[in-house]
Amino acid sequence: MSGLAVRDLRVTYPGRPPVEAVRGVSLEIERGETVALLGPSGCGKSSLLSAVVGIVEPSAGTVRWDGEDLAHVPVHRRSFGLVFQDGQLFPHLTVGANIAFGLEMAGVARAARAARVDELLELVGLSGLGARAVTELSGGQRQRVALARSLAPRPRLLALDEPLSSLDADLRSRLAVEVRDILRASGTTGLVVTHDAAEASVMADRVLRMEDGLLV
Ligand code: ADP
Ligand code: MG
Repeated sequence: MSGLAVRDLRVTYPGRPPVEAVRGVSLEIERGETVALLGPSGCGKSSLLSAVVGIVEPSAGTVRWDGEDLAHVPVHRRSFGLVFQDGQLFPHLTVGANIAFGLEMAGVARAARAARVDELLELVGLSGLGARAVTELSGGQRQRVALARSLAPRPRLLALDEPLSSLDADLRSRLAVEVRDILRASGTTGLVVTHDAAEASVMADRVLRMEDGLLV
């Protein structure tokens, strides 16, 4: 199958006793599809997402993309993007420089970077704001920049961990629609984690429920 395939994934944190955060999860996401992982705080959503992206090592199971086992593929070679709840922008950089960051790391030439930044600004509805300091943005604008930054290198999968949780209710429901549209417009495969059922059904083509380390 094409896209993401997770098989019998387990994430266990060391301790006495060890914490079994993910206890055997299997799921598939087709290319271009967005799946939401919905569940209460502490059920293992972030741990599952982290293992998929590669920032946490699973204790068992496999993560494959287009059939290729990613066990020995480091985070930066997976072409997966990650957006956190609070964006984690670089505060000393402009909007444009934040969006260009991953492109610069990847060695993309200056002119091509500038063109891609303009494309992304338009995609997330921030055209003309490239020179603005990120400290002068609203919370919603900051999350749009975070989204643009993670999409700039054209990740094959974008993982979003409660991307709207730090925003107020009104903005959240508007941005949920925008995130869905942006993922669709860019053809990006998405895995979005949330504890909000309404948000999950707006953002994703398919919603999976998680409880106590398992899909239910
Ligand atoms: P969620 O994202 O659904 O809130 P998490 O994946 O963050 O859930 O956490 C699942 C469980 O794993 C919780 O019991 C949490 O306390 C525990 N946990 C998460 N991260 C760590 C860690 N780095 N070390 C030890 N335990 C952790
Ligand atoms: Mg979490």
